[in-house]
Amino acid sequence: MTATWLDIPADHPFGLANLPYGVFSTQGRPRRVGVRVGDWVLDAGAASEQAGMESGEVWLQPSLNAFLAEGRPAWEAARAWLVELLTNEARRDCVEPHLVPVEQVTMHLPVEVADYVDFYASEHHATNVGRIFRPDSEPLTPNWKHLPIGYHGRSGTVVVSGTDIIRPTGQRKAPADAAPSFGPSVRLDIEAELGFVVGGPTAIGERVGVADAADHLLGVVLLNDWSARDIQAWEYVPLGPFLGKSFATSISPWVVTLDALEAARVPLPGQDPEPLAYLQGTATSLFGLDIHYEVELNGTVVARPEYRDMYWSPTQMLAHLTVNGASLRAGDLFGSGTISGAAKDSRGSFLELSWNGSEPFALGSGATRAFLEDGDVVTLRAVAPGPEGSRIGLGEVTGRVVPAR
Ligand code: CA
Repeated sequence: MTATWLDIPADHPFGLANLPYGVFSTQGRPRRVGVRVGDWVLDAGAASEQAGMESGEVWLQPSLNAFLAEGRPAWEAARAWLVELLTNEARRDCVEPHLVPVEQVTMHLPVEVADYVDFYASEHHATNVGRIFRPDSEPLTPNWKHLPIGYHGRSGTVVVSGTDIIRPTGQRKAPADAAPSFGPSVRLDIEAELGFVVGGPTAIGERVGVADAADHLLGVVLLNDWSARDIQAWEYVPLGPFLGKSFATSISPWVVTLDALEAARVPLPGQDPEPLAYLQGTATSLFGLDIHYEVELNGTVVARPEYRDMYWSPTQMLAHLTVNGASLRAGDLFGSGTISGAAKDSRGSFLELSWNGSEPFALGSGATRAFLEDGDVVTLRAVAPGPEGSRIGLGEVTGRVVPAR
């Protein structure tokens, strides 16, 4: 790793190999784009202004959308410029005045989310859910290995880490109930996912193939798809998830770029049968990511999902999303679906960890949980390998459940 005059320990999760983008503010000043470096946030717009770089104007915006709209060539040029700025001692005067200690900033939603789609790309999760919700049928639906299944979620309720989650109210009916009832969800759950942040817009009618998909992916965030299982179970046939999901989706504040995750790329676990031609790719264009998650509930780590277990590549998800000619907008966000592996402690939802409530799991305090109670705090954290033994931190996404209104 290139040396820097900045004092950053070699194993820092936000070292020079990472350089994620976010939107921050400091007291009395507007929201703007920042780059996390060590325990500081670089005010990227101010630094570029001082350096006389006009293209840095996109970083003075209150979201990453203008930067996202520029597309991959601009993202790569920006990254190269940032590395040069942070490593060249001669540039120190352009950097030092614009570094803000991370404890002095407030982080905001990094993107104004355009369209939000959620996929279902873990074979283990889909199989577990099938066994729980449809015990008398095949766990995987007949389409599952032929296309990355997804649904359109609600972009306006994507919130940044730290935002309280109001327990949703709605209609539910357990199989044994004679009639539906109305009230606060009693089966509030999480889904540990990876979110992909999309840029480089396309026109209606244009497809993005697997080989070009990475040109439209700036990077990733941690994503918690809060889910009301009782509302979901009653509403989801025949059109899929709706109010059981749309009340809130939390994301982490730092968008970790695909470029920073180069060393974390791994082969997919393997696809059988071979999908249709538009979903096929090469060892380069199809990839998993070696991202290690921790799911923490009230201070106890209750699961450690591994993103490398996911069946579908993010490039296949994006190719499928556009194969009908649907356009991409800067700020689109898609979720991977719950990350679950074969082992019980690698399941990314409480539905699976407690097997729909029949096997409550223990917290360190001696308490047990099947689903979330008011006051519970859920935090997802993740880290990935970086170049030359470094670590790439993805930070965390956290949220507290507050009572229904
Ligand atoms: Ca989900």
